[in-house]
Amino acid sequence: MLRVYIAASLAQAHLVQQMLASAGIRSRVLNEYSSGGLGELAATSTWPEVWIDREQQTALARRLIADFESRVDEEKLCAGCGEPNPTTFDICWRCDEPLPVST
Ligand SMILES: [Zn+2]
Repeated sequence: MLRVYIAASLAQAHLVQQMLASAGIRSRVLNEYSSGGLGELAATSTWPEVWIDREQQTALARRLIADFESRVDEEKLCAGCGEPNPTTFDICWRCDEPLPVST
């Protein structure tokens, strides 16, 4: 077991997990249920983490995640729920939170 990613949100962790799975890399999300309770701010230690089962797949996993993060940069992350939105959206498709205006 090796940690390859610390996600800002559970949705993001699951996106990474799905992406790795599609490349044949088995992973699991830890801290899945520890954040988001009672409206408290999550400490760093409770952010969702993605761990892979096989350490020999680390290099591939990190490359996929680097690709993933560069794609996320082309989207706006919702401040309310952390969901990625297309840059053309004005409000989050998921929770209706207003999104930051693109520059
Ligand atoms: Zn949202």
